Amino acid sequence: MALQYCENNFFPEKNWYELAACKNLPIDIFFPIGRTGPALKEIQRAKSICQECPVVRECLDYAISTNQESGVWGCTSEDERKNMRRSPHLRYLKSSQAI
Ligand code: SF4
Repeated sequence: MALQYCENNFFPEKNWYELAACKNLPIDIFFPIGRTGPALKEIQRAKSICQECPVVRECLDYAISTNQESGVWGCTSEDERKNMRRSPHLRYLKSSQAI
């Protein structure tokens, strides 16, 4: 995982993170435990923060390009990114190095 541990939070090694809506929030919000039941509400809570984030596209690109399997990134859940990785369109973009 391409993350740095710093003062109780994990930070991607990217400049865009300086503008992130989650920059000063507890990282736990974006890493709900589980994918069903109460976790669904937590996932939606994290996504509501992402919806206000100015770097949502950069975050999602980073998550896809570095295969972030856990947590909410770029307003997507683990399952949503898994489905995206299976997408023929995404595989094409990756193979053409557009992302
Ligand atoms: S899109 Fe969400 S997870 Fe990504 S930087 Fe913004 S608030 Fe954080």
